[in-house]
Amino acid sequence: MRTRITLACTECKNRNYDTKKDKKTHPDRMETKKYCRFCKKHTLHKETK
Ligand SMILES: [Zn+2]
Repeated sequence: MRTRITLACTECKNRNYDTKKDKKTHPDRMETKKYCRFCKKHTLHKETK
């Protein structure tokens, strides 16, 4: 089962990425380091609804 999620930058709160995740391997909110084009650097991105 793969679910669509949105990843938002924790610094500027922009929703930069749409991705999919496996709810079995990631039952909780995902946190990933990704490049934010608004911050112009790699920041922590958190799953949002
Ligand atoms: Zn940002």
